[in-house]
Amino acid sequence: MQTDQDFPELRSLRETFERGITRDFFWRRSQLLALEAFLIEREQDIAVAVYEDFRKSPEETFLTETGYLRGEIRFVLKHLKSWMKPNRVSIPLIYQPGKGSFSSEPYGVVLIIGAWNYPLNLCLAPLISAIAAGNCAVVKPSELASHTANVIAEGLHRYLDRSAVSVFEGGVEETKALLEERFDYLFFTGSQSVGREVMHAAAKHLTPLTLELGGKCPCIVEKNVDLRVAARRIVWAKFLNAGQTCIAPDYVLVHENVEKELLRYMQDAITDFYGDNPRLSPDYPRIGNKNNFHRLEKLLSRFSPSGDCLTGPHDYYVAPTILPGVTLDAEVMHAEIFGPLLPVISYRNIDEALESIGKGMNPLALYLFSSDPKVQERVVRQSRSGGVCINDLLFQASIHRLPFGGIGSSGFGAYHGRAGFDTFSFKRSILKRSLYPDPALRYPPYGGRTFGILKRLVTIFH
Ligand code: NAD
Repeated sequence: MQTDQDFPELRSLRETFERGITRDFFWRRSQLLALEAFLIEREQDIAVAVYEDFRKSPEETFLTETGYLRGEIRFVLKHLKSWMKPNRVSIPLIYQPGKGSFSSEPYGVVLIIGAWNYPLNLCLAPLISAIAAGNCAVVKPSELASHTANVIAEGLHRYLDRSAVSVFEGGVEETKALLEERFDYLFFTGSQSVGREVMHAAAKHLTPLTLELGGKCPCIVEKNVDLRVAARRIVWAKFLNAGQTCIAPDYVLVHENVEKELLRYMQDAITDFYGDNPRLSPDYPRIGNKNNFHRLEKLLSRFSPSGDCLTGPHDYYVAPTILPGVTLDAEVMHAEIFGPLLPVISYRNIDEALESIGKGMNPLALYLFSSDPKVQERVVRQSRSGGVCINDLLFQASIHRLPFGGIGSSGFGAYHGRAGFDTFSFKRSILKRSLYPDPALRYPPYGGRTFGILKRLVTIFH
């Protein structure tokens, strides 16, 4: 069992929290502004670090990391004061005179564990919510994006109040040791298998948690849509970050009548976006690490021709690859692909498509291209997923007003905007009563007529 002595910074964070410093609105505001300053002043360093980790272009880094985070900070700053206000509730007559309210209170010291694929966003978006809710935080970036982890550690320690926010850089063993400690909330983003271990560690201290996991996100394409637009959007969303996006479309289900046309448009879109040799495109990133590269290479080797997959020092390249004619029982359909391989499966009618989705686990996102409102409604009603986006992809996660999170095997809990503030706070109810009147009715002995009156009052006035 670890103690605070193994992580002395943890003790100092706890002291800061207990002194009430982080509860103050102006402290929260100043930290969010400091985080914004870090993102603005160090944009270049961040872009270089992410590029060094997996050759992601500075433009994509802005769109999916720094730009998103700056928008989130602005959104939170605009609403924070109103979110922090206690909510007054009306009190039933039977409990009058009295005043009731509930407020959003910080948990205390929280631990945020990030994944490597959006190495900045997945650490700092939860941190924004944690600070907004008045917590102290330990941030644990992924060791697999080590350049970005260094910039996060150096930047946060320099820009933020070090007595309240600390960055812990470490690999699997160090993270396991950290999880032995008692935190007041855990926020984990990563794979389902590690999510189970984190939940196990949380159980030991009865620590509440959020799990942001992955899964296989389907994309249904009906026959009555503009297939060129659908194809371009699907290709963009799938091959952004070289397919290493938790909400990327994992596979496409297309109506059999338009399968060929969609495949042609998708192939055209790949060439339009990344040229004839995507390896040379400055906009096409690499696979983040060796294990993931070999896993994808193995999956590709099942197909003929087996695709374009090359490795060099720090250059794990897998070409954007569309896999037509795949069946639901194929190996590539067994688990989340998390890479630039896109199986395409045809269906005869929407019932068949819905049935095949139902067989999978609950995905983080579900996508549908259809211009028929009835079909749109049916698909939403008859499926389950963390989020849905109709006639586009990914943007459900970019809108600060929409909660982002999974369901079932893709995780639980949500964040972004108000949802993030709520995740990192608990609701504390406060009832203030008057000492008078003090009717004998509420006290024993309860027998006879008096209890009859009490029973009526309790059921009528609520
Ligand atoms: P991962 O589960 O391997 O690692 C995530 C974090 O957990 C890292 O910081 C790592 O250091 C730590 N970790 C790894 N093994 C651990 C262990 N045994 N005990 C304690 N901590 C451990 O995930 P990854 O490879 O970084 O990310 C890919 C996965 O994350 C994919 O499944 C993807 O879908 C998912 N993901 C989900 C979201 C989301 O928002 N829901 C976002 C991005 C990625």
